[in-house]
Amino acid sequence: MITRIPRKIAGWDSILFSMKLSFKVGPWSMLKSLLSRNSCKSCALGMGGQKGGMRDERGVFPSVCKKAVWAQASDLQPAIPGDFFRRYAIDELKTRTPLELEHSGRLTTPVLCAPGDTHYRPISWEEALETTVTTLQTTDPDRSFFYASGRSSNEAGFLLQLFARVFGTNNVNNCSYYCHQASGVGLKQSIGTGTATIQLEDLDHTDLIFLIGANPSSNHPRFMRTLMDIRRRGGKVIVINPARERGLEKFYVPSDLRSLLFGSPIASTYVQPHINGDLPLCTGIAKALLQMAESKPGVLDRVFIDEYTDHFSAYQQYVANSSWQELETLSGVPRPLMEQLARHYAQAKNVVFAWAMGITHHANGVEGVQAIVNLALLRGMVGRKQAGLLPLRGHSNVQGIGTIGFTPQLKQEFLDNLESAYGIHLPTGEGLDTLGCIERAHAGGFDFAWNLGGNLYGSNPDSRFAGQALSNIDFVLYMNTTLNPSHFLGRGRTTLILPVLARDEEPEPTTQESMFSYVRMSDGGPTRFPGLKSEVEVIAEIAGRVLPDSPIPWKEFHHTANIRQVIGSVVQGMKPMQEIDRTRKEFHIEGRTLHEPRFPSVTGRAAFKVPSTPGSPLRENHFRLMTVRSEGQFNTVVYETQDKFRGVDSREVVLIHPEDMERRGWRENDTVTVNSSTGSLAGQKLVPYPITPGNIMMYFPEANVVVPRAADPQSRTPSFKSVDVTLEKE
Ligand code: SF4
Repeated sequence: MITRIPRKIAGWDSILFSMKLSFKVGPWSMLKSLLSRNSCKSCALGMGGQKGGMRDERGVFPSVCKKAVWAQASDLQPAIPGDFFRRYAIDELKTRTPLELEHSGRLTTPVLCAPGDTHYRPISWEEALETTVTTLQTTDPDRSFFYASGRSSNEAGFLLQLFARVFGTNNVNNCSYYCHQASGVGLKQSIGTGTATIQLEDLDHTDLIFLIGANPSSNHPRFMRTLMDIRRRGGKVIVINPARERGLEKFYVPSDLRSLLFGSPIASTYVQPHINGDLPLCTGIAKALLQMAESKPGVLDRVFIDEYTDHFSAYQQYVANSSWQELETLSGVPRPLMEQLARHYAQAKNVVFAWAMGITHHANGVEGVQAIVNLALLRGMVGRKQAGLLPLRGHSNVQGIGTIGFTPQLKQEFLDNLESAYGIHLPTGEGLDTLGCIERAHAGGFDFAWNLGGNLYGSNPDSRFAGQALSNIDFVLYMNTTLNPSHFLGRGRTTLILPVLARDEEPEPTTQESMFSYVRMSDGGPTRFPGLKSEVEVIAEIAGRVLPDSPIPWKEFHHTANIRQVIGSVVQGMKPMQEIDRTRKEFHIEGRTLHEPRFPSVTGRAAFKVPSTPGSPLRENHFRLMTVRSEGQFNTVVYETQDKFRGVDSREVVLIHPEDMERRGWRENDTVTVNSSTGSLAGQKLVPYPITPGNIMMYFPEANVVVPRAADPQSRTPSFKSVDVTLEKE
């Protein structure tokens, strides 16, 4: 028992914290903004929109969490002081933490830093736009790339990817390449669609959920209520996570009085495999299930397997050939526990498999996702109501940004529709993913980069390499609401930061898509600061000036409703977008939810997939490191230094099992240097934590300096969560 970890997770503490934060920025402003009809700016579980603020798609109120309050508080803070950029040199701002930069205030004026400048310099919007336009006019399109975070709207994302392609490049990508791309690729290959197969309502009937490689207590707080409800209905929650997170054992759900007072049990079974031991663990559960089926054939859904899937025999053979000994070694989970999980699975009626980056952040991320799908297919838990697959996506519109085409390649039908709508031919090149762009930038292959939101530098593995790569680009454009490390450590030779409106300040409505493929409409609202522009306005203006003779009506695209008309006509499943301004009716994207066993794959069937490798063993005297987020953090935005849920008050720590410390004679607070093939990080304090021995955790993005650029070959998702490291006591 590690006593430092708090006994109570969330509950009153979250309520009081949210109230305190609200009072700091103005309680009425906070309440008004949370109640406005805008979708939550934080995670992709989604709330808000036309059903009303703090409501989910079923209308359940209050659906809100501390993360939403944090994101809102950031936008409600005052402007950056007028003399800020004169007072602080770039060299000084480089040393500030993401939290300090975020708390500097809202960006309200464009700022430029030219070669040789020691400070950013405020400039007028006209100078900012013209500088960008003249730069683009002299840039070879093939030497440009475009990147979007999942915070931007569908409309801004669609417009910028359209501009990029008409400009002449497919170097168009988004932040999902650094998080859930492996889910998209893995699911697409297995079942023909790359997103969740269920809707939120399906979870109301789930009697077993496998929660794999995810920590929603920190990252998707409202999902904890769903898990609580499953347990209250008598269902089971099987948590699979190398670290024993207190919030996944018992959570005090703030919006439920009973839970608030007494807490709610979450995990009915808690399994701690090795980091990246999930694939062999899934194989082990499948093996136990197949063995069980020899005496009880009913545990498999043979009708489903025969009628709706391919390659079962190959998979069955693969599982049979995998030895228990190998599966135990690779997963770190004993056979009896795998057999117990198989029994729970066999007894359940409606099973959902949910996962997050604990599965995707590995060099075999796609195969990890497919190992989960294989398990689901064995019992026909995909392609029907109340059961299915649920990748827990991160940023509020990360899924939408992919849907509207912020990817290197457009789907053929989307591309054809777009070309015929305007009588144009768009580039046919493959285009580069995010990591590909960084690698080519490092080799001097880019003159221009446009970042629509996000913190590209901070999101990258191998931070040193990423910084060098971005510094090789002639002109880097950022569009953000607040400062972040990219503005100082990810500068090009010239860097321009454009201050943009937050979602609830937009002059016109915008739309966002949740992890359930539910499209919400945000009303926008009054501008909090003069001098800000909407992303759509900026993109349309620049596009119109750079490509005045193109057949695309850039002027019309200053208005988001016109963009929605086009999205509705060219993007599959988005037809209701054409009506949404009139009806205000939000919708699930057609063809995404799989309530019937009809799979949108080439064969119309789902496919069992055999992995190329069974997993990899830990190395003697090495540790397997996973980078993780803290409770007070959302992606690269760190709101709080301390991690309350883990009882840790610093981010420069290595969370390690006490046995691993004892064996080496190390003690709590000893400092170590963490070494990987990519870099070293000195001065990290040891903190004992209930994680599987041989595995350690450190905080993202600080630990990115030791994360190599090794990526999953299929999805190009870097392996942020399986880094081979050694620790050296200082
Ligand atoms: S769980 Fe996600 S969508 Fe819901 S309120 Fe929190 S941050 Fe927003």
